[in-house]
Amino acid sequence: MGTMLGNAPDTPAAGCHTGPMPTAALPFASTPAPFGLLLDVDGPIANTVTRTITVGSIVTDLVALANTGVPIAFNTGRSADFLWREVVPPLRAAGLDPRARLHAVGEKGGTWFSCTEPAGAVHVDESVCLPTVVAELVRPLLAGRYGAHMFLDETKLAMVSLEQATAVSNDAYLRVQGDFEAELLAALTGAGLGWIHELYDRRSHPDADGATPIRVEPTIISTDVQHERSGKALGAERALELFAADGPGPHRWYTVGDTPSDYAMADWLHQHGHDVVHVDVRAVPRRDDPPYAVVLVDDVDPDLATARFLRERVEEISGTR
Ligand SMILES: [Mg+2]
Repeated sequence: MGTMLGNAPDTPAAGCHTGPMPTAALPFASTPAPFGLLLDVDGPIANTVTRTITVGSIVTDLVALANTGVPIAFNTGRSADFLWREVVPPLRAAGLDPRARLHAVGEKGGTWFSCTEPAGAVHVDESVCLPTVVAELVRPLLAGRYGAHMFLDETKLAMVSLEQATAVSNDAYLRVQGDFEAELLAALTGAGLGWIHELYDRRSHPDADGATPIRVEPTIISTDVQHERSGKALGAERALELFAADGPGPHRWYTVGDTPSDYAMADWLHQHGHDVVHVDVRAVPRRDDPPYAVVLVDDVDPDLATARFLRERVEEISGTR
């Protein structure tokens, strides 16, 4: 598939399994699990304010599900480095089985690793990596007016992400984000790069070949610059490839997300013949009638809603084993 990078030398080994492998097979190692999970991370799993997992039962219930052999994948714009630092260690500390079918797809499909791999491992799909000139175009902007409001996420390997600095308020950040993006788009145009500005205005500027390979997408806490093929659909496709290699497919998929773009996971699964239910855990305007079931949960924060959903899945598994 992609390029395998070496382990980061400074990645802590804490939480790695060193004891003997358990002998009894996982319950769903060779028979289909009743369901599998594709999970967005920021919002549903990690709190968007602290950017860490703050709900303890999310960790223990994910481990309970993974340890029965339920296929679980994270599908996020975050880097593999973030997932190795913030998401995997608590799962391992809570007793994640080393044979669990748990995969982490980052950078909207551009990078991935499996939790059976040594800490710090990461695979990269070179075909969706942005040219290095994009980050070089961003740096002068950060050295000037925008450096106090945002920073370049240096752990990204495929995308270029400018994240809100935690020292400024979200209001202050959002007040300069539009100006920043206007300067960024002008710089891309000046470098001869074709782009589309997502998500609502769809402004675009083609390159000399008439192509627009770069997507610039504002979020509430970042500006993501990514390859046109990157996205939650590519992440879902990548996750299904990983699951195809490590066991039977489940009877049904649940996808969980807190933004409209997360529906692309369920879209992809439905288009490829899978039974899918999308769980939308933030009060966002509902898309027009997707051709699959949608569960809207908007009475609590996204991570608390996800915790409730995971507890229901643990109860479902307890009743089917
Ligand atoms: Mg999210």
